[in-house]
Amino acid sequence: MKSYQIDIRGVVQGVGFRPFVYRLATKLNLKGEVLNNSLGVTIKVNATQKELELFLEKLQKELPPLAKIDSIKSREIEFQEFTNFSIIQTSEQSLKTALLPPDISICRECEAELFDKNNRRYLYPFITCTNCGVRYSIIEKLPYDRINTSMKFFKMCDECQREYNNPLDRRYHAQPIGCWNCGPSVELLINNQEVKIEGLDAIEDAVSLLKSGKIIALKGVGGYHLICDATNEEAIKELRKRKKRAHKPFAIMVKDITMAKELAIISLKEEELLSSKERPIVICKSLLPSNSKIAPNISKIGLFLPYTPLHLLILEKLQKPIVATSANISDEPIAINLESLQKLHNVYDAVLNHNREIVNGCDDSVVMLVQNRVVTLRRARGYTPLSIKLPFKLKEPTLALGANQKSTIAIGFEDNAILSPHIGDLDGINSIEYYKKNIETLQRIYNFEPKRAVCDIHPNYESTKHALEITTQNKNITLNQVQHHHAHILATMVEYKLTGKVFGVAFDGTGAGTDGKLWGGEFLLCDYQSFKRIAHINYFKLLGGERAIKEPKRVALSLLFDTFGKEALSLNIPTIQSFKKKELHILYLAWQKGLNAPLSSSMGRLFDAVASITGVIQELSFEGQSGLLLEELYNPDIDTAYSFKVNNESIAIQTLIQEIIDEPDKTVAVSRFFNTIVNIVASIYQEYSNYPLLLSGGVFQNSVLLNLLLEKFPNAYISNKIPPNDGGITLGQIVSL
Ligand code: ZN
Ligand code: ZN
Ligand code: FE
Repeated sequence: MKSYQIDIRGVVQGVGFRPFVYRLATKLNLKGEVLNNSLGVTIKVNATQKELELFLEKLQKELPPLAKIDSIKSREIEFQEFTNFSIIQTSEQSLKTALLPPDISICRECEAELFDKNNRRYLYPFITCTNCGVRYSIIEKLPYDRINTSMKFFKMCDECQREYNNPLDRRYHAQPIGCWNCGPSVELLINNQEVKIEGLDAIEDAVSLLKSGKIIALKGVGGYHLICDATNEEAIKELRKRKKRAHKPFAIMVKDITMAKELAIISLKEEELLSSKERPIVICKSLLPSNSKIAPNISKIGLFLPYTPLHLLILEKLQKPIVATSANISDEPIAINLESLQKLHNVYDAVLNHNREIVNGCDDSVVMLVQNRVVTLRRARGYTPLSIKLPFKLKEPTLALGANQKSTIAIGFEDNAILSPHIGDLDGINSIEYYKKNIETLQRIYNFEPKRAVCDIHPNYESTKHALEITTQNKNITLNQVQHHHAHILATMVEYKLTGKVFGVAFDGTGAGTDGKLWGGEFLLCDYQSFKRIAHINYFKLLGGERAIKEPKRVALSLLFDTFGKEALSLNIPTIQSFKKKELHILYLAWQKGLNAPLSSSMGRLFDAVASITGVIQELSFEGQSGLLLEELYNPDIDTAYSFKVNNESIAIQTLIQEIIDEPDKTVAVSRFFNTIVNIVASIYQEYSNYPLLLSGGVFQNSVLLNLLLEKFPNAYISNKIPPNDGGITLGQIVSL
């Protein structure tokens, strides 16, 4: 018999890890103790070598569902006799580097109790246990104890307290537990909060309102949703009108997989994702008619399952799918309290509210499956703030400030990077304020002081301005600026822990280049220190600057001028037809003189241009619309492509434009365009094929393009845990040297 110490790192706090160790040790008749410390969990036991081995094996095999072990180390220590096995309570010492678990969907056991008439929490909308429920969204600071969360306002009743204190109970030290007697409660607010209905009646009445076609703001885990009956076209039309959201697809929450299968084709792997504990929105192949108001003219649909008891209760009563879209104004942050929701009072008819405060806002996560690989499009609820292990240790604690669109922030220390959830676009004062609050939150939760700040090289990004502010205010913090597409590729490198040189393809909207131009169709040979630009799409002018991003016809027109000069004006094609005569002449002059016409090599804009020339769309009503519509036209049976030329490092696309115009069938034109992009990648990569191929940037949200490239290059890397869009930039910034 000897004494051993076992140190475990990973997600091992707030996930029922200590009671699990307690139960296991008791079962194996081992004596000793288990405690939380700043690095994770430490166990001391009296055991023989054999007993220790069995204990270690079972520790890793029978792990509680939310726990994740990064490392487990055991060593013999000086003999110390224990008389029983005990859980040592968390002391007030700092537990800052311990990893915080994300918000997780309701577990099976809790769901069973929720609908069990004999259970004391029957139909209780906030039923939870050690293995499920809210975490990140309610925490103010570490250590993760009830007193440091918004549950501190609810004093546990005796029965809940007993469960909380009993190591053999599945609610042992589950911080957010409560019941009908002591926990949070729901209320339905109607007529600008004049009428208030409480308890189960609130849910009952909310469902009646949904049935009659009304729109409800529903408070969830990380914010409010706007919900309505997804089978009621009029309700959806009304929601679109009030929210000023003409075409952008809505996500649909379905009661269960059976209901999901009525709306979409669901593969086995998609089914797994839908029912995973993270419960993300999964983009699936839609079965709805193309004129459906849910996603007009798009054959994909974003589905997700109820992830809280409250959502379950609503869907159980309604027995219909609901539209569930984040309550926010366009790309602003999600509303997390009645005050921020107020701005949308013209949109909803009632609020189904509850009194558990949301401390940290967190949107829904969005994922899709391409070639059986999971691609994250938005990383938020369920996934954040899980850390990502870096391939090396950082020299200094680093704060990464991200880009300007789909912004996130990240902190890095030692070999950990912790990313905030999706924040949103930094376009308005509210978004910027929310962004700064997110920085504070992460710093506070992890008691983090940066020594280095990293941002983009774009001088007008709000994130860049903020980085400059931080580093001028605090001289101890150094500043590091990283080129946008380099950061994109680095983010993917980190995720796969690649070292050495890689060949990165960054297809994007626009990002500032080192030559002052707007890059976005880039081929880069990179490592953590630097990059070499191997090739890029030939520069073209974005007529009208920012406006060109929203109006594909402006980019198309510019490319037409590049190809045909003034002759372009007499072409009989949709792009030209979409302008007034006078506009055409002004824009021709602007093109000629380069007035308000920044040069860009953006692949995203090239997609826009093709969408305009083929008559698919001239002005966007939401970001990424042209790509989605082009996907609809792709025909896999067409395997021909257009020509292109590579001069030095520049990829000329005039012939491509010419050939697209000459093609009368837009299905053929669009399919060949996709094939051409694949050929361009293949031709540039050929010379560098001894380097790993990495794909990153917002254009890779296009599942047709990604699918084609992964088919051709099965070994190519595309990020999985972080989005290929600008939401992943922070991870690349963290590791730049
Ligand atoms: Zn549970
Ligand atoms: Zn209670
Ligand atoms: Fe980008």
